[in-house]
Amino acid sequence: MKIAVVGTGYVGLVTGTCFAETGNTVSCIDIDEKKVNSLKNGKITIYEPGLEVIFERNLSQGRLSFTTDLKEGIEGAKIIFLALPTPPGEDGSADLQYVLKVAEDLGPLLKDYAVIVDKSTVPVGTAEKVRAKIAQNAKVDFDVVSNPEFLREGVAVDDFMKPDRVVIGTNSEKARKLMETLYAPLVRQGNPVIFMDEKSAELTKYAANSFLATKITFMNEIANMCELLGADVDAVRKGVGTDSRIGKRFLFAGIGYGGSCFPKDVQALAKSAEQVNYDFRILKSVMDVNEDQKTKLIPRIKEYFGGDLTGKTIAIWGLSFKPYTDDIREAPALYNIEQLLAAGAEVKAYDPEAMENVRNQIGEKITFCHDAYSAVNNADALLVATEWPVFRTPDFDKLSTLLKNKVIFDGRNLYTLEEMKELGFTYVSIGRETIN
Ligand code: NAD
Repeated sequence: MKIAVVGTGYVGLVTGTCFAETGNTVSCIDIDEKKVNSLKNGKITIYEPGLEVIFERNLSQGRLSFTTDLKEGIEGAKIIFLALPTPPGEDGSADLQYVLKVAEDLGPLLKDYAVIVDKSTVPVGTAEKVRAKIAQNAKVDFDVVSNPEFLREGVAVDDFMKPDRVVIGTNSEKARKLMETLYAPLVRQGNPVIFMDEKSAELTKYAANSFLATKITFMNEIANMCELLGADVDAVRKGVGTDSRIGKRFLFAGIGYGGSCFPKDVQALAKSAEQVNYDFRILKSVMDVNEDQKTKLIPRIKEYFGGDLTGKTIAIWGLSFKPYTDDIREAPALYNIEQLLAAGAEVKAYDPEAMENVRNQIGEKITFCHDAYSAVNNADALLVATEWPVFRTPDFDKLSTLLKNKVIFDGRNLYTLEEMKELGFTYVSIGRETIN
């Protein structure tokens, strides 16, 4: 099948590449010329494990192409995905300008029946708006379908190729058949393709992300209680996670959630609620708690240095919002950097994949180091912000020698209290006893 994907970012590039991998001919369209040129020349634009190899294969076999020209890109496509940004607008609601602009542009370009698929995360009612925009100038029949994406950055290829489920919102039988055919190779093991009305599909994505953000936040609040009561959040996690109604995943306490999805999606759902005069109280608390949680260790760092960070150098391990991605959108590390710099400290950082993105965003305000140990060399303290595996079993003897003070502030609970005690570190983590 010939398909088109409009928007070639994290979701669009994975969508396009994976559908090419299942034998479709895919044209990816983006307005970012630099991105398109790079992709055309075989240079991948994001770090996503496992993506590069299938990207190269499909590009060289002619199933995957890139263009900035919408007309050329959608030529002959039976299905056109919109994988466009939906960032928070000024009031926190999802900004639909990118999606609606492309919908408007698409109308006059459609030559035959096509299914236009909202893959972006969009509020309830967006499919209707997209349909209206296209209809303004369309001369042919078309359907608009909601097909929210659930991939996780870092494991996006696996998530896409073997999804837990595929959600498709449509009332059109014709669209349903095409979507079923397209997704069939990805759900051969029996994972469900769940068909529903488009509004429910749109809401499903926000419900899933908001629920997960709530689960993390709940555990972060339990961690805060653990600190006050002298309990250990890791023990509590194991105790509650073994209850099959709760489940083991998404229970790790830390310095909050970030990324390009949870913060904006929770905010957008809260805004949607407001627009229909519903007071979604849990979501407000989730946002409040997470806001504080992100920089929860800063007061502890200040306290350690007697309230004054002027001239102190803090090493940060991890800049991306989670491991296995170079995505730094809403990364807790960045909020910590901002507060450390504001307090007069210097920051030396290392991240396996995200340093270029941070440099592009904040310039040379901090020192970027080529490995984890150069970051701690001569630093006054270490702050762990992202749980990249490379930070899990460091050479603690080397750390002791390189750091000016044997002190670790661990926002991701990577080390055991026993080993920290034994090695003589001062160790501050989340929801656990402080080791002095
Ligand atoms: P992104 O910012 O990485 O990519 C969006 C792309 O769209 C960019 O390359 C941009 O240049 C392009 N674009 C903007 N306007 C355009 C236009 N008029 N024509 C063509 N291209 C245009 O965003 P993303 O992370 O891929 O997210 C896309 C959507 O998917 C969002 O709604 C997001 O909430 C949702 N989503 C993201 C993830 C994720 O993990 N990143 C997961 C599930 C859902």
